[in-house]
Amino acid sequence: MNTQNPTEVKDFAQYPDTNGHFGVHGGRFVSETLMAALEELERIYNTAKADPSFWQAFQDDLVNYVGRPTPLYHAKRLSDEIGGAQIYFKREDLNHTGAHKVNNTIGQALLAKMVGKKRIIAETGAGQHGVATATIAARLGLECVVYMGADDVERQAMNVYRMRLLGATVVPVTSGSRTLKDAMNEAMRDWVTNVDTTYYVIGTVAGPHPYPMLVRDFQAIIGKEAKRQHLQKTGKLPDALVACVGGGSNAIGLFYDFLNDEMVKIYGVEATGYGLDTGLHSAPLAAGRVGVLHGNRTYLMADDDGQILATHSISAGLDYPGVGPEHSFLKDVDRVQYVGCTDEQALHGFRECTRKEGIIPALESSHAVAYALELAKTMQPHQSIIVNLSGRGDKDLHTVMQHEGMQID
Ligand SMILES: *Cc1c(COP(=O)(O)O)cnc(C)c1O
Repeated sequence: MNTQNPTEVKDFAQYPDTNGHFGVHGGRFVSETLMAALEELERIYNTAKADPSFWQAFQDDLVNYVGRPTPLYHAKRLSDEIGGAQIYFKREDLNHTGAHKVNNTIGQALLAKMVGKKRIIAETGAGQHGVATATIAARLGLECVVYMGADDVERQAMNVYRMRLLGATVVPVTSGSRTLKDAMNEAMRDWVTNVDTTYYVIGTVAGPHPYPMLVRDFQAIIGKEAKRQHLQKTGKLPDALVACVGGGSNAIGLFYDFLNDEMVKIYGVEATGYGLDTGLHSAPLAAGRVGVLHGNRTYLMADDDGQILATHSISAGLDYPGVGPEHSFLKDVDRVQYVGCTDEQALHGFRECTRKEGIIPALESSHAVAYALELAKTMQPHQSIIVNLSGRGDKDLHTVMQHEGMQID
């Protein structure tokens, strides 16, 4: 569905429009109760956005608490072995709490403070966003409740324990498929009930306006740093960017500052699980349809009756039936190519990165690594690719060990 001529978009920084639309996507599909809270958040954020002291406070936390800037690392051994393009990793795995998610929770915690809310809630899938939210809550002395699908609570016991150690209450959600989408529904329900006292920290570039915009703005630090670092190292822009896409926050974070740089090719990698043709995947951009999920219009995985379909990916962080509305727009206008990696391909990327670079990547990030290895082969040694290494793999060792065929020697 091409709703817009690619050549019509001159400046990607103009999106979303004032109603939160990215082309036909995005918007605000919520009950009356939440409308007022979202309008307040939008007002507060617009004030903050124009205030240099807000960005100064954000930057201070990123430097002193998160450890930014993260390095842009030349994966020389992998690049040499392929003999194609030079591969660079943007090391979001080195952030405090082990992934990019904390960039966003820091930003939203500053907003929660501005609206004077002492209780924060979050949804989480694998638990990474829950951990990043519980971490900030501990630091700021806020009450924190995290909704998590009951199946995920079992699969991710370590992260549940981590959140509890940090002082958060983890609520297992037993409805529906007992995974992330149900946790998000439950968090929305809590927010409707407790909107006067509670700030909802959404973990990716999804949800009703203004969330996709503000989460993007907080994650955009990734691309801003990467652009400056690549220019310093090579004197030019990269030829390509690659990032994995679950809800799409680490991807848009890397992409955003490059969207107007036409010569930079951009690839978003969805999880095609057991393969697109099996139906067991998490690739709404490749195989979904447009509908409304979690307060916004976007591509999602649903059947003919509009029922949300079960998803599958070896990586819990990519196991989501929707995708942020800005990605749906970038697909429609053909600015970003959305491609896929299967579980097996991701495991290959995981092993290669670990053995050749001494970096154990998250399984989510392994999708991006695997795609970049293929892409590099089609390019020349004077060209370069920046891969977003969104997180570290410690949380996934158990999954990898369980997976048949993994050699632990
Ligand atoms: C949560 C997570 C993702 C997926 O979320 P996005 O919003 O698509 O970035 C990717 N990588 C890691 C390491 C994660 O923790």
